[in-house]
This record gives sequence, C-alpha cells and structure tokens, in this order.
Amino acid sequence: MNEVLLSLYQLQKIDTHIDELVASRGELPERVAELRFALEERESILGEIDNRITANEAEVRKLTGDTTELREKHEKYKGQQFEVKTTREYDAISFQIEDADRRLHEDSDRMGRISIELENAKAEAEDRRKELTEMRAEFEDSEKLLNQLMAETAAEEKELKGERKKILPKITQNYISIYERVRPAKSGVAVVALRGGVCGGCYNAVPRQLVLELNRGLKHTVCEYCGRIIVGEVIGTAIDGEPEPVSQEVEETEES
Ligand SMILES: [Zn+2]
Repeated sequence: MNEVLLSLYQLQKIDTHIDELVASRGELPERVAELRFALEERESILGEIDNRITANEAEVRKLTGDTTELREKHEKYKGQQFEVKTTREYDAISFQIEDADRRLHEDSDRMGRISIELENAKAEAEDRRKELTEMRAEFEDSEKLLNQLMAETAAEEKELKGERKKILPKITQNYISIYERVRPAKSGVAVVALRGGVCGGCYNAVPRQLVLELNRGLKHTVCEYCGRIIVGEVIGTAIDGEPEPVSQEVEETEES
C-alpha cells in the first residue's frame, strides 16, 4: 500500500474532523451572543419601566399630599368667607377658593391618568419580568452548553492538530498542493476512497479497469466528475476500518 496515499487519506479524515468541531461550536457562540444581547436589551427596557413606576408612585404620593393640603386650605377659606368685612376681602377669598378648586380638579385629573399609567406599567413590568426569567434560563443553559463544548472540543482539536502535524511530513508536496487547492472548492473534502466502484465524493462510477488498479492501493486518480482525489477502497478500509456486516451490527446494538 502506498504510504503517501494512506497518509493523505488520513489527513483528510483529520481535517474533516476538525471542520466538524469548528462547525459544531459555530452556531452556539452566535446563539449565546444573540441571547445575551436580547437579554441586556430587555433588562434595560424593564429598568426604564421600573423607573417610570418609581416616578409615578412618587408623584402619586405628592399629589395625595397636595390634595390633603388643598382641601384643608379650601375648608379654611370657606370658613373665612363668612368672617370677611369688605367686598374686596370677599372677592380675594373667593378667588383663593376658586383657585383651590381648580387645582384640586387638576390634581384629581392627573391622579386619574397616573393611576392608569401606573397600573399598565406594573402589568407590563410583571409580564416582562416573567419573560426575562425564561430568557435568562435559556441563556444560562446555552452558555453552559457552549462552555462545555468549548472545553471538550478544545482538547479534541489540540489532539487532532497534533496528529495532523505528524502526518504532514509523510505526504509529498505535490499532493499537499492539490489537496489544499481542491479542499475549499469541495466543501472541505479533497480526498475520497472508492466505495464499491464509485467515487466516494460524488458517487459517479469509476471505470472497471481503474477500480482494479486503485484497489491495489498503489495509485490515485482524479475523479473526472467532481475533481477530487480518489484512492483505492483498500486505503479507505485501512483508515476507516472494515464496514461491519449487517448481522453483526444488530448483535452489537442488542448488547449495548
Ligand atoms: Zn467524484
């Protein structure tokens, strides 16, 4: 068996594995970042609503105090109205009473509006707090998963890169050049093994005579359909292992 072809096929296996690792964490970091952003945004909105509630409650307290004060003044002026000596004094007191009436009326209107606002804001805050609790739980779960995945895949990736480094010197430069050129154009897969007489990349048939030659494990061909490097099935089996017969697979499934 050609050791260079064997190593080339092995390099492909390692790189595919690394690609899968990177892809597996590819979406999760994005999802976690999205959730974090959404969470911060909603927390900020809830913060604004809470501030509005606090301000409204303060105004309600102030209006309640003002109303009590105005009512007392109103009562006092009413009393004074009976004690005045001159028309001028009477008019002045009447003006004060009217003024107190007007302000009481205004305060009452304002109080009505604020009470509705306050009620709505409290209901909204409660809904948003519930939503935030759910979102925070989802975020924490995703972040935990990501951290786990990063920890797991980081070790695996390091190991794979170590293997890669050991294999590279076993492959000749011309193969590396083709490999690196074809890989990006073919979804990361530049080297495939024959599988029952067809290209393992595009599943197009390879001429019979060529299949026999490739399966001696001494040469490669370039697939005329997909342009990938095809090595013999014997090389694929040497790296991937023998495909298990169906009956054996069933037995193993039952045991496990
Ligand atoms: Zn092909």
